Amino acid sequence: MTFSTSTAASSTTLPAFGSLPLRSELQESIEALAYESMTAIQAQALPPLLEGQDVIAQARTGSGKTAAFAIGLLNKLDTQSYCTQALVLCPTRELAAQVATEIRKLASTLANTRVLTLCGGRPMGPQLASLRRDPHIVVGTPGRILKHLERETLRLEAVQTLVLDEADRMLDMGFHDDIMKIIQKTPASRQTLLFSATYPEGIQKISRTVQKRPVDIRVESTLDSPDIDQLFIQVEKKQRTETLYRVIANYQPESCLVFCNTKQQCQNLAKALGERDLHARALHGDLEQFERDQVLAQFAGKSSSILIATDVAARGLDVKELAAVINYELSRDPEVHIHRIGRTARAGAKGLAVSLFTDYENRQLRAIEEYQGAPANLVKVETLTIPPGFKLYPPMVTLFVNGGRKNKVRAGDLLGALTAGRKIAGDQIGKITLFDKMAYVAVEQQVAKQALTVLTEGKIKGRKFRAKLLR
Ligand code: AMP
Repeated sequence: MTFSTSTAASSTTLPAFGSLPLRSELQESIEALAYESMTAIQAQALPPLLEGQDVIAQARTGSGKTAAFAIGLLNKLDTQSYCTQALVLCPTRELAAQVATEIRKLASTLANTRVLTLCGGRPMGPQLASLRRDPHIVVGTPGRILKHLERETLRLEAVQTLVLDEADRMLDMGFHDDIMKIIQKTPASRQTLLFSATYPEGIQKISRTVQKRPVDIRVESTLDSPDIDQLFIQVEKKQRTETLYRVIANYQPESCLVFCNTKQQCQNLAKALGERDLHARALHGDLEQFERDQVLAQFAGKSSSILIATDVAARGLDVKELAAVINYELSRDPEVHIHRIGRTARAGAKGLAVSLFTDYENRQLRAIEEYQGAPANLVKVETLTIPPGFKLYPPMVTLFVNGGRKNKVRAGDLLGALTAGRKIAGDQIGKITLFDKMAYVAVEQQVAKQALTVLTEGKIKGRKFRAKLLR
C-alpha cells in the first residue's frame, strides 16, 4: 500500500497568480514557467509579503517557498538602481545555487537584473570582480558574505528585502553569530522573511530579534506528495528482535528510526542490536543533555545508522532524509502512529515504514486501520531475507572536539584545519555540529584516523584542542 501523509498542492483549490498585484513582467515570467496556480505557501505568504510585511513561514523543500520569496523581492526591485537591494542567506552552496537559479528564471523578463551568488569554498577573485558590477540581488552562505562585508567589498545599506532560507539548518551549522553580524549591516527599514522547516526556540528567538510583527504561516502541503510504503509484520513476542534484525538486513536503510514504547525497551534493544554488530544508539529521557547531543550528532552525521527512541525522546527531533521508520511495538494511539511514520519520506523522497505487532496488539492495529481509512498491508516475515555476510557499516565516523562556539571555533575553522594538509578532501567531511564548548565532526571512515591526528596534533585558531573518535 502506498500511504500518503500530506496533500499535494491542488490546482483546483488554490488561487492563480493573476489574483496578485504583481508587476506585468513577473506575471509574464510566471506564465512562461507554466505555474498554473499558487502552492499553499505561496497563496498564504504572497499577499502579506507583497504588502511589505515581515513573514515567518514553516516551509520545506518542494513547497514552492523559493518562488514565494523570489516573487516578493523581485516585485519591488528597481533594476535602474545599481545597488544590492535583496540579500538571501542560505545554509549551503547547493541551496544558494538553486535559489539563484529560481530567482534568475523569474527575473528573466526584468531587463538587466543582476543576481550574484557568494559562497565559501569558491575563489575570491571572480567574486570580487562580480561585486564591482553591483549586483541587485546577492544569494550566499553567511561565512563568505561576512568576509566580503569585513573587506568592504559588499555593501548592504540599500537592502530592502532580507531572506533567511532554511534558517533552522543555518543555526544547526553554527551560523547564528555570522547571521546577526550581517543583519546589523542592513537597514532597519528592511523587510525580513524567514523560512524554516522546524521552529526550535533558536528560530523563535531570532525572529523576535530581527523581524517586525511577522505574519506566521505554517503549511504542511508540498508539491511532491511524499509516498510511504507502509508494511505490517505479525510476530511472536519472543521473535521481535530477530524480526527487526531481518527487516534491517532485508531493506538495509541508510538511516532508520526505531520506535519503542518504553525507555527500558530502547536500552535493551540497542544492546541486543549491538551484540549483533549493528551500530544502534538509544535516545531516551534518562540521558544527560550532552549524551543526547552526542547520540544525535552521531546519527545526523551518518556514523550511526539506527536510532532507537521513545515518542517523548523523539519529540523535536528533526533528522532529514530518514530512509525508514520501524515500529518495534505499535503505539497505543493511532495518531501517534501516523506521526511516527510521517518522519520518513520527507522532502519528496520515498519512505519506508515497517511495524511489528503481536497478537496482543490486534486492537491497536485495527485502530490504525480505522484511523487511516485503509487496511494494513501485511507482509510475512518469511519473505524477508538476510543477505549472506550481511553487515551494516555506517559510512561515517564522528569525532568529538572539546572546543566550540565559546572558544570561537566555527564550522569553517574545523573544515579548514582538516583539509589544510590536502590529505582529506572537503567532500570527505560531513555534518559539523557546534555547541558552546564542544563540536562533533563527521568524517568518512577511511580518513577517520588522519582526521583525528590533524585535530589532536594541530591547532585550531592558534589553540590546541582534544579530540576523540566516537565509536
Ligand atoms: P522549492 O520548494 O522552492 O524548492 O520549489 C520546488 C519546485 O517547485 C521548484 O522546482 C519550483 O520551480 C517549483 N514551483 C514553485 N512554485 C510553483 C508553482 N506555483 N507551480 C508549480 N511549480 C512550482
